[in-house]
Amino acid sequence: MADSQELDIELALDRIEGQLDDEMRQHVTAFAAAYAAGTSLPGAPDLSGRASTAAVAKRALTFPTLRPRAVRLLRLVAPILIERDAAVAAARSREPTWAGLRALAAARDAVAVARFRRPALDVLHQLSGIREASVLTLELPAAIGGWTETDHVLEDRALDDAWRYLAELAGAAPALEIIRTDMVRPRFFAVDRGSTGIAVVPKVIDTPAKRFGVLHELGHALVNQQSSYEWPRAFDEAGASYVARLMEAPDQIPGRWYSPLASVARARRTQIARVLDTVERTIQNPTDPPFAKPPWALWHDPGAQAAYVRAEAIAEDIWTRLGPPREGLSIGQDLVYLAIELDSNLAI
Ligand SMILES: [Zn+2]
Repeated sequence: MADSQELDIELALDRIEGQLDDEMRQHVTAFAAAYAAGTSLPGAPDLSGRASTAAVAKRALTFPTLRPRAVRLLRLVAPILIERDAAVAAARSREPTWAGLRALAAARDAVAVARFRRPALDVLHQLSGIREASVLTLELPAAIGGWTETDHVLEDRALDDAWRYLAELAGAAPALEIIRTDMVRPRFFAVDRGSTGIAVVPKVIDTPAKRFGVLHELGHALVNQQSSYEWPRAFDEAGASYVARLMEAPDQIPGRWYSPLASVARARRTQIARVLDTVERTIQNPTDPPFAKPPWALWHDPGAQAAYVRAEAIAEDIWTRLGPPREGLSIGQDLVYLAIELDSNLAI
């Protein structure tokens, strides 16, 4: 029989999840609409950034039967708790400079150490499915001529066709709400884990870079449909990267998605992520990185770069072992097994 402490924590988890599941569904729907419209983005529900929510999740981690739910909750709560801290918010509101990023990173570390007894990047990397640091490098790759230039306009139906093709192969219901707007970058929002979501995509898809962006987001939609697992970020990105590889050779997916530049663009993207990850890991070094100012991603999305680097390695592994999508192949299942194994030794 479970001891009474475990039961107390379980009841607290039930209460939090009961409230949060509903609130998050509404929040994500509202967030996607605001994102697509280019209006101000709503903040996450109060409960999702409370220290008390994180404390319940941390206590639940110590009970094996509650552990998966605890990890799921921490994945949501830890980044919000860190970014909501008053000192972090103040540092983030300043003009981005390298000195400013050092101060911001120190503020993030202070909250993370107080709440999780380890630096912020360590917490975020653990939750994102990263266990090893990648090689440090500051070598920026050259731009790829033509990647962001118009080559052809993708047919209107190509997006629906591609999505239906992917969903049918995976045996998933092709439920996906698509919002078309030229205001913002493509992005997928998981409204319900394991089922539906909203994809915001451009009205006109006329460059290889835009085709990549859209396919990548369809990849997120596909892994979301295939499992209700609260994905470690590296695995979610790996699924997106795997699907986006379909544009690297002709006739791998219905529609004119192919670009001969796509595989070198992937290598370039990965190298940029390595460079930004290096900058982030070494931010407290006394010399400024050799770039004018901190990029948006490091200012607003800490820990993401290592997840992108890791995602490419995971996607490479799936592609090598399983090949491109085919009837009955659920990459979501494959990713879930890997993610569960990794989460079982989460250390925070
Ligand atoms: Zn992505």
